[in-house]
Amino acid sequence: KIEFRNVVKRFGAVEVIPDMNLVIEDGEFVALLGPSGCGKSTSLFMLAGIYRPSGGELLFDGHVVNEVEARDRNVGIVFQSYALYPHMSVRDNILFPLRFKKTPRDEALARVKAAADLVRVEELLDRRPSELSGGQQQRVALARALVKEPKLLLLDEPLSNLDASLRLSMRTEIKSLHAQLGVTTVLVTHDQIEATTMADRIICMRAGRIEQVGTPDDLYLKPSSLFVASFIGSPP
Ligand code: ATP
Ligand code: MG
Repeated sequence: KIEFRNVVKRFGAVEVIPDMNLVIEDGEFVALLGPSGCGKSTSLFMLAGIYRPSGGELLFDGHVVNEVEARDRNVGIVFQSYALYPHMSVRDNILFPLRFKKTPRDEALARVKAAADLVRVEELLDRRPSELSGGQQQRVALARALVKEPKLLLLDEPLSNLDASLRLSMRTEIKSLHAQLGVTTVLVTHDQIEATTMADRIICMRAGRIEQVGTPDDLYLKPSSLFVASFIGSPP
């Protein structure tokens, strides 16, 4: 279980997240939905341990993790741009998150194989990222996020660089991965269709604040504000 308790995030004098309160249950698939600059990535980076909250508490299973380093959280992340390491093979890219763990080499490689199998890139392990299509790179990024068997999977606009048909098939693929692994998943997106088709619950954000939390149907049929209605595209 994940909990934001009065979480604040400032960059210098600018308060980007004034007071965030949210609970995400184990195994849920939630979407952080909102326009550009509303604080989606910032919220996700706090979950990842990349940004530290400026105030309040972030809890994993009841434990405050504000000061816990990224590598000590059981979290996998796919960034907005895939950010694979261009000088490394696909194998070494997927292996990378295991570098701090004292995993024996053959066990680490077995894990890489398992993660690569999950997203069907097992044939591509010896290639460089530049030799892959966008969709393949995206899958490798997913494999890298999954190799530690994380308790929490964080996806920051993972489909935004893909063409329309690939985006559709990857939606389905990520959904079935979630169903298969049961890993708690937080998807950041500004695409309301992506959020409504993929998430069990949507957290609709505006200017650093949560406007509404609910199922896709809740938000569509009972939007709490004109902002949510227009963002989700509710019927007037
Ligand atoms: P997008 O959909 O464009 O990715 P977002 O919802 O992910 O937007 P964030 O990246 O979380 O938005 O940014 C929220 C606000 O915080 C923006 O005003 C941004 O300029 C600011 N911000 C984010 N990261 C930093 C940083 N490292 N230093 C200063 N300001 C930042
Ligand atoms: Mg962002």
